[in-house]
Amino acid sequence: MADPLTITSVAGASVSIIQKYWKQLLIFFFVISLIPVFIITAAMNLLLPQISKEEFGVYKDLTKESGINWASLMAYDTVRLDNYLKENNPDESIFDFLKVNFKEYEITQTEKQVIKTVKGKEVTETITQKEYETIRELEIHGYLPIKELLNSLNYDTSKDNMNVKKVTDFLSELNDKEEYEIKTLILTVDEITENFDENHRKWYCALAEILPLLDPTAEFDPDKFIIPELSANPSIPSIWPAQGIVTSEFGENRITHTHSGIDIANTEGTPVYATADGTVIAVGSSGNFGRRIMIYHGTDKDGTTYVTIYAHLSQFKVDVGDKITQGTLIALMGNTGYSTGPHLHYEIRVNGTPVNPRYFLP
Ligand SMILES: [Zn+2]
Repeated sequence: MADPLTITSVAGASVSIIQKYWKQLLIFFFVISLIPVFIITAAMNLLLPQISKEEFGVYKDLTKESGINWASLMAYDTVRLDNYLKENNPDESIFDFLKVNFKEYEITQTEKQVIKTVKGKEVTETITQKEYETIRELEIHGYLPIKELLNSLNYDTSKDNMNVKKVTDFLSELNDKEEYEIKTLILTVDEITENFDENHRKWYCALAEILPLLDPTAEFDPDKFIIPELSANPSIPSIWPAQGIVTSEFGENRITHTHSGIDIANTEGTPVYATADGTVIAVGSSGNFGRRIMIYHGTDKDGTTYVTIYAHLSQFKVDVGDKITQGTLIALMGNTGYSTGPHLHYEIRVNGTPVNPRYFLP
């Protein structure tokens, strides 16, 4: 789609124009040269969602402080942002996993007093209006999202203050003052995925299971892969996913991005097959990919994880969670998402990073 421009036909007659307007031309070309930078930045975010080593590090460190499973948190962000991980903010997402329980207060008829249980004994205390409102809120809703709760306690919820340690320190400080009995709990899977639709819910559960197997520090080395071994191994993507003509190779420079897969063009409805044994982890629409399927093919003895993506499909033939074998019909070719004609965008991710599918094709 991004054919290099050839500028061999600029005539000598334009030289005088350049001399006359060189300043304006300079500004014009400078502005023009900025446009692709903006487009590339936007498109890289949109089209090449992948997990970087740094992101793994951030998720793992954060969850150590809170006791939340890092894979659950990362799966949550992946699904919530539809794989648009460059926009993530794990610092904030982590609070979506926590719920706060206030248990020891009970509101009395007078509405300005609470009955507080201290060491098993009931004590009636007068409380401030602010405390009353907080307790009232909690009684109505069971729990509040932490940010709202902290706001109601006049906690400074600026970005700097919203790290897990500062918040949990603040809450335990309130506990020490015996003003509140606060328990911070981690939400259940049902509560976490409450706002997901059925497909996204399944995707979340599948990701939470497989993410611990991803090791972004394991670099993919194509030299390690020998074709006869590949073709004898149905657990590694090693067959063509569809018949057709290859219209775009991996790594090709487009105006907006570098191509992260291989495009195979054929008529709409051409069968698309799983390229290895595996489990379907995502079925649905995803931005420029249109209708796409993701399959997890397991992790080999070296700890290398394989996921394949099939995009721009017209029809799905499998569901999330289905166990499939190499060669299973999974979908029909289509023209959904950002696509200029019926084709399959086929992508292989090794440890989360797109690699050239040609390494794996017979
Ligand atoms: Zn493509």
